[in-house]
Amino acid sequence: MTETAPLGPTVLGYPRIGPKRELKRAVESYWAGKSDLDALRHAAAELRRTTWTELSEAGLGSVPGNTFSYYDQVLDAALTVGAVPDRFAELNLRDEDLLFAMARGTEGVPAMELTKFFDTNYHYLVPELGPDTNFELFDRKPVREYLEAVGVGVQTRPVLLGPVTFLLLAKARAGAPDGFVPLDLLDPLLEVYGQLLGELGAAGAQWVQLDEPAFAADRTEEELAALDRAYRYLGQLTERPRLLVAGYFGNIGPALPVLAAGPVEAIALDLVTNQSDLDAAAGLPQLRDKTLVAGVVDGRNIWRTDTDTALARAATLLGVAGRVEIGTSCSLLHVPYDVTVETGLDPDVARRLAFAKQKVAEVVSLSRALREGRTDGTESYTKPGRTAADDRTSARLERLGTDHYRRGTAQQRIAAQQERLRLGPIPTTTIGSFPQNSQIRADRAAHHAGTLDDAEYERRMRAEIERVVRLQEEIGLDVLVHGEAERNDMVQYFAEHLDGFATTDLGWVQSYGSRCVRPPILYGEVSRPEPITVAWSTFAQGLTDRPMKAMLTGPVTILAWSFVRDDQPLGVTARQVGLALRDEVHDLEAAGLRIIQVDEPALRELLPLREADRPAYLDWSIDAFRLVTGGVADSTQIHTHLCYSEFGAVVDAIDALDADVTTVEAARSKMEVLDDLGNAVKRGLGPGVYDVHSPDVPEAGEISDLLRAAVKSVPRERLWANPDCGLKTRGEREVVAALRNLVAAAKAVR
Ligand code: GLN
Ligand code: ZN
Repeated sequence: MTETAPLGPTVLGYPRIGPKRELKRAVESYWAGKSDLDALRHAAAELRRTTWTELSEAGLGSVPGNTFSYYDQVLDAALTVGAVPDRFAELNLRDEDLLFAMARGTEGVPAMELTKFFDTNYHYLVPELGPDTNFELFDRKPVREYLEAVGVGVQTRPVLLGPVTFLLLAKARAGAPDGFVPLDLLDPLLEVYGQLLGELGAAGAQWVQLDEPAFAADRTEEELAALDRAYRYLGQLTERPRLLVAGYFGNIGPALPVLAAGPVEAIALDLVTNQSDLDAAAGLPQLRDKTLVAGVVDGRNIWRTDTDTALARAATLLGVAGRVEIGTSCSLLHVPYDVTVETGLDPDVARRLAFAKQKVAEVVSLSRALREGRTDGTESYTKPGRTAADDRTSARLERLGTDHYRRGTAQQRIAAQQERLRLGPIPTTTIGSFPQNSQIRADRAAHHAGTLDDAEYERRMRAEIERVVRLQEEIGLDVLVHGEAERNDMVQYFAEHLDGFATTDLGWVQSYGSRCVRPPILYGEVSRPEPITVAWSTFAQGLTDRPMKAMLTGPVTILAWSFVRDDQPLGVTARQVGLALRDEVHDLEAAGLRIIQVDEPALRELLPLREADRPAYLDWSIDAFRLVTGGVADSTQIHTHLCYSEFGAVVDAIDALDADVTTVEAARSKMEVLDDLGNAVKRGLGPGVYDVHSPDVPEAGEISDLLRAAVKSVPRERLWANPDCGLKTRGEREVVAALRNLVAAAKAVR
C-alpha cells in the first residue's frame, strides 16, 4: 500500500437517476428502440460526470465512485463477478443488452426476481447462484468508472457491494441441490473481489468502499464468521487500496467487533438510526488504528441535520478511533436531489428540509465544525421540537381510551353482515382500481394543473365511475368498486387531501430500474380537514343495488411510502394517520357504504430488520389499523388487501388486524399461501386467482382449479374470488376477459 491521504468528509452514495430523471428517459427511450446505444452511453456518462464534479466541488474529501447504475447496483455486482444465470448467458447478448435482459427479461426468458432492498422502498435484482456458479471478473465497471472519473479530474472511492452481503442477498438458483446456500461460495467469490481490488489499486484508487448492510439485520455465528474471513482475506492482500467497510440501515452490533479486529482501515457506522454502535465502539481499543466514518447525516430521510446532536455523536468517537470523518448514515440514493428546485413548498416546511445536495453541504460543514470548532453560529441548525398541535391528537386518543375498538365477536359480525349483504358462497370482487387509460391520466393532470375546472373534472370522473360500475354489473361481479380513476397513487392521493403532508414537484426517488416515486412528506400533525373519498363512493353506490366497496389506504402503508417526521416515534405518527382515516371510515359508514376496504400492502415492508424490534412495531401497526376500522357497526364489513404472498413473520399480525375479509396475492404461487394463511386467518379470505402482473388472460378452468385447491384449506363460506391486486396497470380488454372467466369459475365451484 502506498501513502494515502485520509478520507475526509464523505457520503456513502448518491442518487443516479438524474435531477430531472434524465436516466429514466435515456433508458426508456433505448428500450423502446427510439435511440441507440451511443446516445444511452452518452447520457449515462454525462450524469456520472456532473455527479463527480458536483460532489468534488462541494468540498467532500472523498467522492464515492461506481454509484452510477443503469438499473440496480446488486445486478451490477452480479455482472462484475460473472454471476450470469445460464438462461441469460445463452442469449449471446453483451454489455447493456445483457444487463437489461437480466433486469427485465426478454421474449420467453423471465427476468431475475425483484425484491425489496432491506427495509427501504428500493428494489434489487436477486442474484441466482448454485454450486456450479463460476465467479470471474466479468464486467470491470468499477475500474472503468474509476478511470473515467480520473479523466474528468476527480479521484473517486469506488463503492462495491460487500462480498458477504452479496451472498446474503442472493438465492439458490432453481434446481440447486438441497442444502446449498450462497454463502458456500464465499472463497471463490473472495478471489474475484481480491482480483478487482488489485486492479483498482493498480489503476490508482486509494480507497474502496465495501457495503455490508446485511449486518444491520440479525445474523448467525456462521455469517459473522464469514464476515471475519472475508475481510481477513481481503485485508491481507498486498496490492490493494485502503478498505472502508460500511454498515448501514441500523446498528451492526456483533459485526462491529469483528471488523474492528480485522485488517480494514475504516468502518462507516449509521449513527442516525440507533446509538448502540456508538456505545460499543468505546469498548474496542483496536479502533484506535482505524478511521471511523460517523454517519450522522440521515441518508434516508429528508430533514435537515441538527448540528449539535450530530457533532456530539461524532465527537464521542474522537477519543475512540484513530480518525473520525463525518458521513451520511447510508447512501443518499434514497432521497431526492435538491430541495431548492421545489417552488411549491410552504417556506416553513422547506426550511426544515435537506435533500441529497443539501446533505452533502451539511457533511462538509459539520466536518469543518468538528475539526475547527464552530466559530460562528450561522451554519448551525436546531431542529424545532414537537408542536402544540401534537397534543390535540394525544388528547383525542386519550378520550377514545382503550375501547376505540368496539367490534363484536366474529359470529356476531358474520351474522350481521350476512343479514345485510346477503352474499352467497365464494363472492366475487376486485381489489379496487380498474385500468387507467391515458385519457383518465390526462384529465387528472389537467385538473391538477388548473386547466380543467372542478365541475368538468368531476363530470368526467363520474362518467368513468359509471362506466366501470355498469361493466362490473354486466360481468356479474358481486361486490363492486368505483375503480379509483381519481387517484394518481394510493398514498399520494391521501397525502394531498390530509393536513400535515407536503408533496413535491421533482422529489423523485428510484424505486426500481427506471421507476421512480415521489414520496409525500409527512411534516406535522396529521388530520383530515374534510371527507376525501365519501363523495366518490357515495356516487358509485347510488348507481347500483349491489354492495359498493369503499377504498382507503391504511396508516402503515401511508407511513411506509412517505418521508415521515423523525421527531416523534413512528407509532405516534401512525396513530394520527389512523385517527384521520377513522373519521373517513365513520363518514363512509354514515353515508351508507356497507363494505370498506383498508389497503395495507406495506405492513410487511416496514417490519424492522432486527427481531428484537418487531413486537413493538407490530403492536403499533396493528393498533393503528384497528383505530381506523374499530368504530364501525358489526354489519359493516371491513376488508383489507395485502399485496404479497409470503407472510412469514406477519402471519399472526394479519389475523390480529381482525378484518372481516383479507385479500392477498396467490395466483402465481398456485395457492401455496394457504398453507401459511388458511389456518391463521379465521375470517374471510380472498387468495388471488388472477395474476395481474401478467397480460395473460387466465382460462375459467385454470381459475376454478385454483378455487378448488383453495376450498381444501378455506371453507367455502369464508372464501372469496378476486384478482391478486389492483387492475390499474392492465389493459381494458384483458381485464374484462379475465373477470368474466373469474365469475364463471366461481359459479362452477359453488
Ligand atoms: N386498492 C388498490 C388498487 O386496487 C390496491 C393497490 C395495492 O395493493 N398496491 O389499486
Ligand atoms: Zn396489491
